[in-house]
Amino acid sequence: MSNDTTNLVYPYAEHPAHGGTLQIAAGVYWLTMPLEGSLDHINLYLLEDNDGWYVVDTGWNDARTMDLWQQIFASALNNKPVKGVICTHMHPDHTGNALAITDIYQCDLYMTQAEYYQARSFSSMVTQVGSNWHFENFYHRAGMTSKALEQMQQSWTSRKEAGFSMPQMPPGYRRLRDGDNLKIGGSNWQIIVGSGHSPEHACLYNATLGIMISGDQILPVITSNVSIHPSEPEANPLHDWMVSHDKFMSTPADTLILPAHNLPFYGVRERLRDLVNHHEDRMLAIEEHCLTPCVSTELLPVLFKRKLDGRQVMMALGEAIAHIHLLMARNRLARELRADGRYYYRSIDPDLKRRSHSEDHDLPDDTPILV
Ligand SMILES: [Zn+2]
Repeated sequence: MSNDTTNLVYPYAEHPAHGGTLQIAAGVYWLTMPLEGSLDHINLYLLEDNDGWYVVDTGWNDARTMDLWQQIFASALNNKPVKGVICTHMHPDHTGNALAITDIYQCDLYMTQAEYYQARSFSSMVTQVGSNWHFENFYHRAGMTSKALEQMQQSWTSRKEAGFSMPQMPPGYRRLRDGDNLKIGGSNWQIIVGSGHSPEHACLYNATLGIMISGDQILPVITSNVSIHPSEPEANPLHDWMVSHDKFMSTPADTLILPAHNLPFYGVRERLRDLVNHHEDRMLAIEEHCLTPCVSTELLPVLFKRKLDGRQVMMALGEAIAHIHLLMARNRLARELRADGRYYYRSIDPDLKRRSHSEDHDLPDDTPILV
């Protein structure tokens, strides 16, 4: 059993070339921007209105992406301006050029409230990452050795020295709420909010066209990162993620999903069901592992197959702890802070033996980790 969903249908074999667009439906265009590393690319979308365009997500904040945007602005907009920028959520591959594009066209940014303010706070927070007691306590309790912690801090320092920063955001925005409708090009795009990968992630659903722009909320291949960070160490985002999956299960089965990574696909319900089952399977594997009490870092090989570098360890560990916290909320794991300053987790469900199938688990995940 793996977390691949085998029966999805991909109507497009490849991504549009950088700098070009591909029409998906009347007034809906797909483009791809480059990303560094294993993630490789992000899909962005253009929605045509009578008097201008909406941009959905904006790509990484670098010169290469902005050059490609300039090409697209010059060639693909039929001499109409961009009239709005919609960011599905606050991650930097989605918000990277929101400020630049809204400045060029003096147009509005549309985001949900939690995403907008978190994006703004992250753009000032990055200088603090890796160098405070919140950070150190969090990773010490998770079982990280001081050597590994040092490596992680070094990887942050070198990223900061290389000029990495979270994108600056426009100073104002227009708020999107769950259930809002945006009229664009004569048809209706309904905002459907999910949570877990980020706090208030907006998807755009068009019932007339049978299309959903899903951001990172629904991806066909990659398992979206659902993670706990030192900024909210007791959070339970996997709970929100599972609730959101139940909510999105009511998406009509024949909807074409336009994701932010991988290719557009049909089969949304199969994908959601597989992801729910995958996380349930991961949690069960953790419970089986915690029959002998252990710390979070010991669970990484249960969840991930690939070798993890400093920053990936941070994401992977955050994800392991997200699974742990949902198990704690379900009264299946107990946590104990021991004298060594580490959290130890122990399985406490007397029924675990009946549910166990330790010989038949999903393989550890080997897809890229999202930012
Ligand atoms: Zn994301």
